[in-house]
Formats: sequence, C-alpha cells, structure tokens
Amino acid sequence: MPGVLSPEDIARLDVFHAMIAEQSKVFAGYPVTANFDYHDLFRFLDYPLNNIGDPFDPCTYHLHTRTFEREVLDWFAALHAAPEDDWWGYVTNGGTEGNLYGLYLARELYPNGMVYFSQDTHYSVSKNLRLLRMPHIMIKSRPTGEMDLEDLEESIRIHRDVPPIIFANIGTTMREGVDDIPAIQGILKNLAIPQSYIHADAALCGMTLPFIDGSPEFNFSTGIHSMSISGHKLIGSPVPCGVVLALKEHVDRIARSIEYVGTLDTTITGSRNAITPLILWHAIRSQGVEGFRAIVAECLACAEYAVEQLNAIGVAAWRNPYAITVVLPKPTAVVLDKWQLAVEEDIAHIMVMPHVDRDRIDRIVADIAANPV
Ligand SMILES: *Cc1c(COP(=O)(O)O)cnc(C)c1O
Repeated sequence: MPGVLSPEDIARLDVFHAMIAEQSKVFAGYPVTANFDYHDLFRFLDYPLNNIGDPFDPCTYHLHTRTFEREVLDWFAALHAAPEDDWWGYVTNGGTEGNLYGLYLARELYPNGMVYFSQDTHYSVSKNLRLLRMPHIMIKSRPTGEMDLEDLEESIRIHRDVPPIIFANIGTTMREGVDDIPAIQGILKNLAIPQSYIHADAALCGMTLPFIDGSPEFNFSTGIHSMSISGHKLIGSPVPCGVVLALKEHVDRIARSIEYVGTLDTTITGSRNAITPLILWHAIRSQGVEGFRAIVAECLACAEYAVEQLNAIGVAAWRNPYAITVVLPKPTAVVLDKWQLAVEEDIAHIMVMPHVDRDRIDRIVADIAANPV
C-alpha cells in the first residue's frame, strides 16, 4: 500500500517549493543550467528503473533504459570524435565519477604511473587520487587557469622512468582555463616518452567548445584516452549526471562478468540511474547539435556583455577566450550571498549559463555597483 502524506507535510513541501522557485531566480554562480523542461519524462518515475551494469551488455533486469543510454553515448562519441568501434562509455552520476573512472583505467594500465594535474584542478581529483592510491605531482597554473607547460615538462623530465598520466582540464572550475592537449602531446614526444595516458576533464566545456568554431582541440583525435563530461552543467538536469567515454581496449582489461545480474561489471557503481539517460536523450533529441550551438553562442554573447557592463562600472572583470565564466574581484558578502557566487581567494565568478540572460546580468551588475568593495 503506498503511504499518504499528512496535510501538514504537504504544506511543508509547498513552502519548500516556493523557496526553491524563489532561489532559482537569483542563481548565477555555479556552472549549472536552471531552465529545462522534462515533463515528457515524469511518467517514468512510476517505475523502479535501473541500468545496473554495462550499458552495451544484455541484462536479466528488464526495467532499464539502455537503448536510450546507448543513443546518448553514440551522440557524445560522435561529438568528441571517439574512434569508431574502439570506444566505450556510460552515463555517470556526474563529472567526478567520470574522472574517477578515467584515473582508474589509467592506473590499471600503468600501475606505476605518475599523475600530473594542475593547481586549478577540481577539488575532487585529489580525493580520487587518494582513493586510488596513485602517486601524483601538482603542476603550477597560469593566471588564466591553464596548466603551466614548462613546469609540466620539467616534472615529466625528472620522472622519465614512469609512465605519465596527464589529468587535463578542459575548463577549470574557477576560471575555465583549458589545458593545451596538442602542446602536452608535443612535450611527451619531445621527451621521447614511450607510454602515457591522457584523461580530459571536460565537465563544462565538453558541451561548449565542440560548438564554437576555432576553439581549442581536445577530442579523441588529439590522442586522449578518456573523457568525462557533466550532464547537469550545460545541458541541465534535475538530477546530477554525466557521461564518461574511454578507449574500449582499456575498459576490456577491467570487465568482469557477473552471473547474478547477467551483465558485465564495467561501471563504478552497481545499480545506476536509468532516468538520467532519458533526460540526456530528451535534451539531445529536442536540441540537436544546432540547438546547442545556438545556446552556447548566446551564453558567449551574454558573457562578453557581462564583462563589458562590469568594466563600465570600474570592475576588473575578464574571461578566457571561448569561456562563459566571468572572473571578477571578490564582491561584497551581500552580493556573493544573494547571487550564490563561488569564491576562491580574492576572486569570484559569474557563470553565464543558459538561464543567465542580459536582464539577470543587469541586476547583478546593479547590485555590485550599489555595494562597492
Ligand atoms: C564540476 C566539475 C567537476 C565535477 O563534476 P560533478 O558533475 O559536479 O561531479 C569536475 N571538474 C570540473 C572542472 C568541474 O567544473
């Protein structure tokens, strides 16, 4: 018998709902889209859907959305030039899980490898490295957020005896700096490194750069081995999610067949969300490449508008080329709290996601002007 909530509990949910609706109007500091409509999918919440195990393998549990998940993965594989018939992937719980997966594959391939990642790398990566017990070296960042390649080259030169595992940022969390993968490949070649692994953390920019002409290259054609992308960031989702893609030959090394569920145990978690593949499928089918191209173009235009408006009131705001992140000197606590802006030391950022339009930017700029530091 399904349970029924008391009128008091319903009223409590009503109050909570009104608060969330209000807060979402002043949401501008995280790389997460707030405008989407997945009502077409609500009816699937009536079933115990579960994509347990490998999305490409049959399963004795039939209430799953693997067909949709595979279509989503196909779309991302094509978008990022994954080599045909030599890629594998799954819909994750978010960028962090995809990064953990990439590092896991790298460790299985090169158990004595050394991981290199920049100072500006997402905070979850050092935890992942501890979890996997992988030796690592932190590389300096440049003021734009990207990895300092001279420091990288020096560090790899000193440790030439072990395979380098490069954890590359394709859009750092705070400044949206993009590590230069072709230049990193050049360093590896220059030092005559025979074995290496590159993972691309493309949490945000995996869904922006492919739609911007002339933007930095980081897809599988540049020789990366795995990539993680967040689904709830640029695409938008009521439930956190992401996609991980990897070269299949490396995944085959870790696959184990499990009789209990009749499928391969290739993923990090056992039971997996089956709603998020539907959400990503809905977004991809309804927007398509052209839809996302237009969305990203509008974000870029609004980000440039935000920089201009802030500069016009004397605030030294800036952004990287191709970036939708506007970096500015840390504003006052009133502004930070109202607009939920993330800070790091003396800077803050405004994330110009699809719901952050010129009107919202005007209101943020007015608040900053009215509350000088
Ligand atoms: C957000 C982010 C992550 C973590 O992604 P989640 O989807 O929140 O797990 C990792 N790396 C970068 C660069 C990010 O911006």
